[in-house]
Amino acid sequence: MLNRVIIKPLLFKLLRRLPMPWIAILIGLAAGIAIWSTLDQIQSRQVDKIFDQELRVQLDLRARESLIRFDRHLSSYSAMTRLLANHRRLSEYLEPLFWSEDETVSPVVYKEFRPHWLPDFFEPDVLSPPSHVLLTDSQGRVREIFQAGEVPAPGGIATRVNARFLDPSTTRSVIERIGNQLYLINSDAVEDAGGYGMGYLVVLVPIDEAFLAASQRGLDVGRAAVALVDGDDQRIVASVDSAALIPGSLLSDWNDTSVITSQSLPEYEGSDSNLLFATFVPHTVVERMSRHVRIFERRQRFIAAAVFVIVFTAVIYLVSSRLNKVLKRMTRFSQRALGIAEPGFHRGGNQLLLLEEWIQHFTQLVLTAREEMNRKHQAAMRESEALKAAMMEASLDAIVTLNQAGQIIEFNPAAERLFGLGRGKAIGESFAERFLPDVARAAFKRLLDRSRHLHREPLGRGELLALGSDGSELPVEISIAPIELEARRFYTLYIHDISSRKQAEQEIKSLARFASESPNPIMRVTAEGLIVYANHASRPLLLAWRAEPGVRLPEEWCDVVALALGTGQPLERELEISGQVYSLLFAPIRDLGYLNIYARDITAVRRAEQESRQHQAELVHVCRLSTMGEVATGMAHELNQPLSAIVNYANGCSRRLQGGSGQTAELVGAMGQITAQAQRASEIIKRLRALVGKQPPSRIQTDLNHLVREVSSFLEFETTRVGIQIELDLAPEPIPIQVDLVQVEQVLLNLLGNALDALEDRPQDQRRLHIRTGIQDGDAWAVVEDTGPGIAPERLAGLFDPFVTTKEGGMGMGLAISQTIVENHEGRIWAESELGRGAAFHMTLPLSLPTGESDGGHTERLDT
Ligand code: ADP
Repeated sequence: MLNRVIIKPLLFKLLRRLPMPWIAILIGLAAGIAIWSTLDQIQSRQVDKIFDQELRVQLDLRARESLIRFDRHLSSYSAMTRLLANHRRLSEYLEPLFWSEDETVSPVVYKEFRPHWLPDFFEPDVLSPPSHVLLTDSQGRVREIFQAGEVPAPGGIATRVNARFLDPSTTRSVIERIGNQLYLINSDAVEDAGGYGMGYLVVLVPIDEAFLAASQRGLDVGRAAVALVDGDDQRIVASVDSAALIPGSLLSDWNDTSVITSQSLPEYEGSDSNLLFATFVPHTVVERMSRHVRIFERRQRFIAAAVFVIVFTAVIYLVSSRLNKVLKRMTRFSQRALGIAEPGFHRGGNQLLLLEEWIQHFTQLVLTAREEMNRKHQAAMRESEALKAAMMEASLDAIVTLNQAGQIIEFNPAAERLFGLGRGKAIGESFAERFLPDVARAAFKRLLDRSRHLHREPLGRGELLALGSDGSELPVEISIAPIELEARRFYTLYIHDISSRKQAEQEIKSLARFASESPNPIMRVTAEGLIVYANHASRPLLLAWRAEPGVRLPEEWCDVVALALGTGQPLERELEISGQVYSLLFAPIRDLGYLNIYARDITAVRRAEQESRQHQAELVHVCRLSTMGEVATGMAHELNQPLSAIVNYANGCSRRLQGGSGQTAELVGAMGQITAQAQRASEIIKRLRALVGKQPPSRIQTDLNHLVREVSSFLEFETTRVGIQIELDLAPEPIPIQVDLVQVEQVLLNLLGNALDALEDRPQDQRRLHIRTGIQDGDAWAVVEDTGPGIAPERLAGLFDPFVTTKEGGMGMGLAISQTIVENHEGRIWAESELGRGAAFHMTLPLSLPTGESDGGHTERLDT
């Protein structure tokens, strides 16, 4: 529990913080130590075993070597013995010699010196000199003995050296134990030149310490010792180091201290002894060697372990530095591609664990992303399915999906409505057979093929006749979209019912004829005045303009077009062509940049207007005549005055001429008076004629003030009769108007006449007549005010109706005519009155600013 809760996380934390190279060093060291210690145990044992085996082999070899050397050493003595036996000196010594046959005679012993027959052949360094050299006769009896040292020849030697022992043909060599001493005994026959045996030479060499040492010379005997051992009692007979290997001691005594290898010595002829040749290597030496080997081995192992640690660490270091690079790249990748702002690698630590963590994290992210994608994909699929279903449901067009065989696999509600067949029944049917008449099937097949082969424009589109479920034919437009899905082909047909469109097309066609069917001229022109359309009735206009569609209108009409399009307001103009008057309405269609001209023949209207104007003038004239009747008395009175004066002057002149008393100057003066009075009368008559005379209706530029003054002067007699003075309160400046003079004068005459009539009933001192003029809001105005009885309010409304009068003998036409005249002049006329205090008649007329120089000529006629 503790382990899991505390130690494990701690260890993990530590591991996570340790960079890889450190871990590599630690692991390398631990592994190195483990390997080293394990190997040390196993290998040490193994090495010891091998070492033992090797040692044994080595010792064996050493022993064999020692033995071989020993053998050779022995052979050297044999050779030496042969040499001595065959030496010239010996044969020379024996040639003449004859030993007595007496067997009791003791052999001659040379002690102090060497006999002549024995040359000094023995090199003390190579071969230890023999202790005794014996010379026997041919029967083997010892005759002479050379004794090298103090030790006499061993007893019984003579008996031993006998015929049995001696062999005339070969050198014999035996090791014999005589007493306590081992001897090498070599014998060889001494022969004369003829091969006749003269005796034997026997050489005795004691096998002692020196002998053994000499036999082993050249061999490293420092660590090994050799000894000859009696095979029977296992006792040492002779050794190289008698101080250490004491002769007589048991071989087994040395087992503890040395490794002993013993080999049997080859038997020498005639020797009865069972000798062993033993090699001794002290344990200490073996152990030292073993230790050396082990130390050497251990050093090798240590070096191997160290090399392992270094190589391991280096490899891990390289791997970790590579991992560092990978982690850096992953950091960038995490930040860039996965949007992890802090991937946590830069802090450092164990790259492997970091990598593992990252991979876990990354796997988690990938899994989450995959789930998210899955979810989104499914949602998108559901959405798309829902959308598709909604589209199919809501589509106004019929949508039918066919499989490759042309069978229906989808049929939307619009299709159900169009063909009058439920979806359930339609699915599985062949579309062409069920819903197309025979004549349309080939065309449909062509459409299908075309939709498949047109890569740029995926829809095959065309108009066909389809069949409703009741057998009725429907004109439809079919668009085909082929769909390739997993090597299977489907076709989606969008079918649009075009029967209403066909009908609409028909209507549009008939509407398009609308303009051409019009009896009135209709034209369409562009903003530049180019005629784009003109109907048949436009011919007279086109002829007059010398134009036709595709040609511009005459320049002045182009200006009208530009003006109408500029203002956006329709303009009306008139045009007279050989007695026919046309009214042209220029109707601008600004947003489309063209203008329609609607013309109308208004000749009849204009004629009627002309006639009406004529009638009106005549009416005015009648009215004027009636007015004239009223003013005639005054006029007659006024005319009477100059006429009377003329008569007077004329009478006076003729009296003076008859009496002859008349002075020329006086007569001339009277004649001047006559002329003046006649002119005055003429003026009065001219004015009367102007008032009565029939004038064609015509408008002239004039001044309203002038008109008022003129009319006032007409009525001077009337005013005088009534006993009042017309008060004029006129605008200081002229008021320009363009009017029919006679008609407007008549209006003023009517108003003033009515006012005078009204004033007649008033007492003399209360009679006042006032005319004011002025300009207001672009209009000229005049007011005629009187202080008469006024008009009752209830009568004001119908005052201007015809035949409304309160006067005896009145016609009730004055105000009606006045209203017609004023309205014809685009003016207004109305009455205001306060009963008992008087009435005021207001009149307005449009101002007309005089053009150019003509402003002075008030009575100048301007032709329209
Ligand atoms: P008539 O003068 O022949 O009657 P009008 O049309 O000139 O015909 O006048 C119609 C009527 O209006 C007159 O009969 C009169 O009653 C009334 N009227 C016109 N002018 C005045 C006025 N200034 N004061 C009072 N009544 C007037």
